[in-house]
Amino acid sequence: MEDEEPLARELIRLFGHFGYVLHRYTLLNEAAQAIRYRKPDVLILDVAFHANGLNTIEHMVLTPEFKDLERPIIFLSDRDTFEVRVQAARIGAEGFFTKPVDVPKLIDRVEQAIRRKQDIPHRLLIVDDDEELAKHYALVLRAAGMEARTMSDPRRILDVMDEFQPELILMDVAMPGYTGMDLARVIRMHEEWLSIPIIYLSAETNKDRQLSALSSGGDDFLTKPISDRHLTVAVSIRAARMRQITELMVKDSLTGLLKHSRIKEQIALEFARAQRDGTCLCVAMLDIDHFKKVNDSYGHVVGDQVIKALAHLLKQRLRKTDGIGRYGGEEFAAVLPRCEPEAARELLNDIRERFKKIRFTAEDEFFTVTLSAGAVMADAFPDASAMLVAADEALYDAKRSGRDRVRLGHSMFKDG
Ligand code: GH3
Ligand code: MG
Ligand code: MG
Repeated sequence: MEDEEPLARELIRLFGHFGYVLHRYTLLNEAAQAIRYRKPDVLILDVAFHANGLNTIEHMVLTPEFKDLERPIIFLSDRDTFEVRVQAARIGAEGFFTKPVDVPKLIDRVEQAIRRKQDIPHRLLIVDDDEELAKHYALVLRAAGMEARTMSDPRRILDVMDEFQPELILMDVAMPGYTGMDLARVIRMHEEWLSIPIIYLSAETNKDRQLSALSSGGDDFLTKPISDRHLTVAVSIRAARMRQITELMVKDSLTGLLKHSRIKEQIALEFARAQRDGTCLCVAMLDIDHFKKVNDSYGHVVGDQVIKALAHLLKQRLRKTDGIGRYGGEEFAAVLPRCEPEAARELLNDIRERFKKIRFTAEDEFFTVTLSAGAVMADAFPDASAMLVAADEALYDAKRSGRDRVRLGHSMFKDG
């Protein structure tokens, strides 16, 4: 809901480049109806929308249709007062942008809001020799939207962890043969599991014994019997925190894409999988053209925005199963499982076309940027690193032959 015509049009245009569809409304009741039947992912509302003494937020509070929307709301406002911000916060707004709107930041925020909604469920491993009880916990946690796996044979714990990749472990303390502390110590011997939260769940109420259990590799102690609600809240808060930390470790902070080492790992993993299953796999390298000139002409901050814009676009255009990473400063790598050469070419060309249509602004000036890409299919290579070298060669071939183009690596493409 934005009544300022030029801003509305600019938002529709810019969001469009990133694959978002904006529907614009200028009447509050029309917007309310549209929310019901169109089920938008995010609402962007101008605060100063109504002239009759009330602002948009005050109208929303009074209008039944706006109750319990359960979708992210972001406000745009030409005034920035504490009072309005509190009003916005009270109805659960996630963002507040003062005009002139920093559109790349707004797109960032929208993307965060949508990503959180689509978050994959937290994976929890429940270790308890009492199978009935473990099943009950699993049921409770699944009802709260989490993915729970139970196990009663402690000797298999590392195998189960490798396969299930839990984000948190609920650990019984007293089990025949091994204690929860034994298992925690064994788990912590493995570097990759150093930071996984382990929560003991036990009937032990003696504080000293609880504390000594914690000093052997656990993170917290919950006492049985525990209410369903207490269990759910305790577990989901810690799992969410764990995911945040993991994201910080594996994701590049500027773009939210995988860091160099992680995307390389994922490429190697997908390469092995494609070989095993005999499926198609495409790996692409993308690099911004003459990016140095962007930095030199408009500064590093604007350069960063260009990098972020491309990252957004990649996230928008690629599938959930694809991996995307920031390979270098302004170079990106994408791994596309089950992607045929022709589809890869089309996709990369679409990204290339969309990217060059984005109009960036810097001090009242508009400019556009292009990119080059090189791609190869995995089946032509003996290993992942040979494939990466070839993808890089394809990229530099694209650069040499004039930039702003997609080059498909030799041999596996008919008209490479
Ligand atoms: P080409 O078309 O051949 O790719 O030319 P180019 O200018 O894009 O490539 P070059 O490798 O010469 O320059 C890349 C520049 O990207 C150099 C570096 O300062 C800049 N850069 C790397 N990382 C970042 C970053 O995070 N932010 C910004 N703003 N600039 C970066
Ligand atoms: Mg027990
Ligand atoms: Mg470049």
